[in-house]
Amino acid sequence: MTLYVATSNPGKLRDFAVANTAHIPVEPLPNLATIAPPPEDEPTFEGNAIAKARYYSSHAPGLIVIADDSGLEVDTLHGRPGVRSARFADDYNFHPAETTYPLNTDERNNLYLISLLTGVPLTERSARYHCVLAAARNGHLLAIGHGAVEGEILSEPRGTGGFGYDPLFYLPTHQRTMAQIDLETKLTLSHRGRAFAALLQELATHIAAT
Ligand code: IMP
Repeated sequence: MTLYVATSNPGKLRDFAVANTAHIPVEPLPNLATIAPPPEDEPTFEGNAIAKARYYSSHAPGLIVIADDSGLEVDTLHGRPGVRSARFADDYNFHPAETTYPLNTDERNNLYLISLLTGVPLTERSARYHCVLAAARNGHLLAIGHGAVEGEILSEPRGTGGFGYDPLFYLPTHQRTMAQIDLETKLTLSHRGRAFAALLQELATHIAAT
């Protein structure tokens, strides 16, 4: 059994590879670039992951196709930015005061998050990275897996590694942000890796039952 992942993102593929302790063959979906991407407009990670897995698997007859959705959930913001994590600042048309250099999307998202949490004490800044993976074949859902890593949102960035919200995402267990942590440790904490392990277990149950 080979699993085909609907991504060409090397970071995601590496997260899956580290979690793939059973060494199931995992490949990027061939011809992914030639398939028009589906809309990602479901209100939940699960909805988006399932829709993408069903869609891409209907373009790859017979193959088991895996698709993901992930992002940041901040409890005091009732789970926002959630499915809108990549587009948080854009959604709210947030343009911070000019800096000496142009801000990229991640920096604008982080500044927007900081602004929303102004005055919120650290004890109320709990958050998590959450990933959902779905597996489908011929347009039919086979299994899903959830993975999360828990943390707290700081009021200013720390560290230069990672991407997205990593400079604000503090791990109390490691006393560092995700942007300060070494890659090897980060890989063991991956919400994507945890979702992949959960998905493999669900898939094994499904396959055993059919
Ligand atoms: P995607 O669904 O994996 O493409 O993630 C959507 C967005 O969630 C990204 O653009 C980031 O803003 C945020 N995100 C997801 N995973 C991570 C992570 O591991 N570190 C930092 N930000 C993340």
